[in-house]
Amino acid sequence: MQVDAVIVGDGPTGRLAYRVLSGLGLDTVIVAPANTHGADPRTTALLPSSVEGLDGLGIDVRPKATPLPTMIIESLGPFGTTAERFSAAEVGAEYLALNLPIGDLVGLMPAENRVEDKVVALRHGAGDVTAITEGGAEITARLAVAADGVKSPTREAARIRLWRQPLGLSALCAPVELDTPHEGLCIERYDDTGSITVIPVGSRAGSLISIAPSADVDRLLAAGLPAIEASAARRQPAYGAIRLTASPVVFPVSLGWAPTPARRRVVAVGEAAHTVPPIGAQGWNLAVRDLLALQEVLAGAVRAGGDIGGNAVLARYIRRRRFELPGRLAAVGMLAGVATDTSLRGRLARQVGLGVLSRVPPIKHGLMRSGLA
Ligand SMILES: Cc1cc2nc3c(=O)[nH]c(=O)nc-3n(C[C@H](O)[C@H](O)[C@H](O)COP(=O)(O)OP(=O)(O)OC[C@H]3O[C@@H](n4cnc5c(N)ncnc54)[C@H](O)[C@@H]3O)c2cc1C
Repeated sequence: MQVDAVIVGDGPTGRLAYRVLSGLGLDTVIVAPANTHGADPRTTALLPSSVEGLDGLGIDVRPKATPLPTMIIESLGPFGTTAERFSAAEVGAEYLALNLPIGDLVGLMPAENRVEDKVVALRHGAGDVTAITEGGAEITARLAVAADGVKSPTREAARIRLWRQPLGLSALCAPVELDTPHEGLCIERYDDTGSITVIPVGSRAGSLISIAPSADVDRLLAAGLPAIEASAARRQPAYGAIRLTASPVVFPVSLGWAPTPARRRVVAVGEAAHTVPPIGAQGWNLAVRDLLALQEVLAGAVRAGGDIGGNAVLARYIRRRRFELPGRLAAVGMLAGVATDTSLRGRLARQVGLGVLSRVPPIKHGLMRSGLA
């Protein structure tokens, strides 16, 4: 098969890449195994800037999303429980984020042209690249987009280097039903176990994310559903009883970044190019920025009748992504470290930090604005 562009991966990033590339009039195909996103327990909290970016691509998430106007961060420590409320209205925003299940997000971005198979190798030609699948199909294109997740076989085949640092933490995630309606309030609580957050979905449901050292998460998982539910209700008392509506899934937490995310007609995007802890809702929001940058760079090449996978285009994309990502990754990495440090010093630092935010609104609002942008 010969196309303009081949996208490897059918997650939210691959689907968004398909929307961007086919929107530019490029003959595009997605290659990935049949998707199972309906079973993914994660939700995606989209920041206002991402919602706007998706709007521009004709993707309106609002009908499927739950607005999150307010968030409370609570920290247990030497001063008892300290809490700070962050409300979108404080910085003139309508909401802090719009939250929707990953399955719904993927469903909003259909991709008609697809090959259901796994890519196992790449072959580089003079002016093209060929993705070779397990079943023996060959798809030749001028540009390959690696949207095949954190392990990204396509990124590896193109020898795009990913710097990755496991953090010794895991995130246990499960969809839950709440006894008490959340009324749009998201509570992130830091205690002597780690962090626990319920991100509202609908009116009485949510996505539970508990981050702690991996051995502790494994122990909790092995203890079974009733133990997980009891622990969640004890650590997040505001919602009353918390019932898991599907089995929890554990995600290892790491920080990762490909400083040069494109090489030899292959560009890595989404988790194939960067991975952050699920704190501060940055993960897929960074993928949206990848694809908006790629759209701009490719639009220029398409207008000029240039080579969409050529070195000049890839170099322009690399420059676009080089400056934003290190700062965001460092900030989220630091936040994850502070949020899950259960030592006395760590708990004290969190409480003092929250105290400063509470007493110095310009610092608080500056941080909020940069987190939402
Ligand atoms: C607990 C948790 C909560 C999160 N919450 C948020 C949030 O609130 N907001 C936010 O912005 N982000 C959040 N994230 C991050 C977000 O979920 C990820 O950034 C996003 O799911 C990554 O999507 P992706 O498409 O890049 O990768 P994936 O979803 O991993 O998709 C990879 C795709 O590649 C395919 N694939 C793999 N190998 C091959 C191959 N060899 N050939 C072909 N296809 C292949 C897979 O089948 C899959 O379709 C969270 C993450 C976690 C763990």
